[in-house]
Amino acid sequence: MLEPLRGKDVKPVIDSGELTARRLSAADYLPQEQSLDNLRSAAAKCEGCDLYLRATQTVFGSGPAPAALMFIGEAPGEKEDDAGQPFVGPAGKLLDDAFTAAGINREEVYLTNTVKHFKWEPVGKRRLHAKPNSREISACQPWLLAEIQAVSPMLIVCLGATAAQSLLGHKFRITRQRGQILALANGQQVLSTWHPSSILRTPDADARQRMQEELFVDLRAAVSLIRR
Ligand code: SF4
Repeated sequence: MLEPLRGKDVKPVIDSGELTARRLSAADYLPQEQSLDNLRSAAAKCEGCDLYLRATQTVFGSGPAPAALMFIGEAPGEKEDDAGQPFVGPAGKLLDDAFTAAGINREEVYLTNTVKHFKWEPVGKRRLHAKPNSREISACQPWLLAEIQAVSPMLIVCLGATAAQSLLGHKFRITRQRGQILALANGQQVLSTWHPSSILRTPDADARQRMQEELFVDLRAAVSLIRR
């Protein structure tokens, strides 16, 4: 009788680490022609990490290309997951208010997220937003980099630490570097400010008011930079 193979006698056809590494990235789904329309269609079928499994749909960026200003948030929330559009919930409303205060409107900027699928945890019957981890952020980054290439912004505005750290590295601190104009290795200018959701989640009313004022100030600075 043949003995079953065990341990080091078993040689996998494909190294499991390699298989995992290949699977866990949006890079495998990038189209050859990387127009925004092509990217959007391709991202709709992305299975580059596990987040697609429990989300309703891919929430790709929206807006014109080229666009002088590109805004990057963290990840779609529940409302965005339902609608398939970024920044349509309460955070989107606050962002629209900040746009109005800065003298711009949503139609002239490009809006997207670091990660394109809604991550959530069940709390009773509710789907509660969960923060994407570094593996998911890195898996999704090919979409973000392709969007930046297609949109060719004069200035990127990162909304919150997740977006800022994904471009500027993990040493970035929103509390210290908010409002500063920083440059990526390729010279692309980046300004980071509060994510509207984090403002809305701040329990202290005075702190919330201060953060909202800082968001408005930062957006006015962003607009004056692109109109210089
Ligand atoms: S989060 Fe990004 S990498 Fe993961 S499945 Fe969605 S689009 Fe693909």
